[in-house]
Amino acid sequence: MNKVDLVIIGAGPAGLTSAIYASRSGYKTIVIEKSAPGGKMNNTHKIDNYPGLEGKEGWEFSMSFSAQAKNFGAKIIGGDVVEIKNLDSKDSKIVVLKNDIEYMCKTIIIATGLKPKKLEVVGYDKYFGKGISTCVVCDGAFYKGKDIAIIGGGNSAIEESLFVSDLVNKIYIINKFSEFNAEQITLNKLKGLKNIDFFYNTNVIKILGKNDKVSSIKIKNVNTKKEKEINISGIFTYIGWNAENFFIKDKEMLDKNGLLIIDKENMQTKYKGVFAAGDIVSKQFKQVTIATSEGTKSALEAVKYMNNL
Ligand SMILES: Cc1cc2nc3c(=O)[nH]c(=O)nc-3n(C[C@H](O)[C@H](O)[C@H](O)COP(=O)(O)OP(=O)(O)OC[C@H]3O[C@@H](n4cnc5c(N)ncnc54)[C@H](O)[C@@H]3O)c2cc1C
Repeated sequence: MNKVDLVIIGAGPAGLTSAIYASRSGYKTIVIEKSAPGGKMNNTHKIDNYPGLEGKEGWEFSMSFSAQAKNFGAKIIGGDVVEIKNLDSKDSKIVVLKNDIEYMCKTIIIATGLKPKKLEVVGYDKYFGKGISTCVVCDGAFYKGKDIAIIGGGNSAIEESLFVSDLVNKIYIINKFSEFNAEQITLNKLKGLKNIDFFYNTNVIKILGKNDKVSSIKIKNVNTKKEKEINISGIFTYIGWNAENFFIKDKEMLDKNGLLIIDKENMQTKYKGVFAAGDIVSKQFKQVTIATSEGTKSALEAVKYMNNL
């Protein structure tokens, strides 16, 4: 079995920050990532609110966080964590990957973030990947000059609509609530554009397709009960998130939303030496700055734990 000091699960801003701190302290640190290092920063066109780095693109953050972690000696390994075992053990916890590779370690930091919620309507599963996406930054370019729908009422829906507004012909923003729960500054910019149609109090009821691709969307106003079908080529959903927690078998570690419960003083879960950071931790606000600060704290606590072994 492979032996390391610290396994960090997830290479988003939380996990990569933990990796910078832990590897810099001299502990053998690996970060296991099932997708691309950078996490949700890869799905964000610009991160304008990170102090000192205004206007940098999401992928630039991902690259520089990863490079910094590697420079200090952390290894970023591609892999999907499917189980964590022996959590009661002081210094021999086990992290299991999908391909059955196992890592024994003294400490674990869980930084697996969230995954997009599915829209529970007819046509979603059938056309996912065939005109439906959860990432404008990744797939927006396919819709140059076309009409698209963006579903959601929060910051992600608004920010990503603004990002793609120059590229596409028209955007229909479908919000099930009577107002947006988003930053006013971004919302105002979007409201000033001519190619955006806003729908409030409106649910998506069906996604339709032709030739195995999305061709239209059926919506319904919850107040007037009026239905409408809109022809579009693409749909992007930003309707909330679920915790990335399926590898956690001990459900006592989780709150009712599936997020990790920790002692906020030391970022520790109910198991000694098992820490958590970032969006996967139960809290109200989810931002890169919060993920990095929790990544820092959890790494420093992990280092303290290992120093005391
Ligand atoms: C569209 C969008 C725009 C945003 N804009 C901003 C912004 O402008 N400013 C800002 O501050 N914040 C923004 N955010 C929020 C910010 O991106 C998140 O708060 C932050 O990325 C959380 O970091 P994290 O490391 O906790 O999780 P994530 O970034 O989600 O990273 C978690 C990583 O863990 C990996 N993972 C999950 N499960 C496993 C597993 N079993 N095995 C291995 N790897 C696993 C995932 O693949 C992922 O790479 C935005 C988010 C979105 C979606």
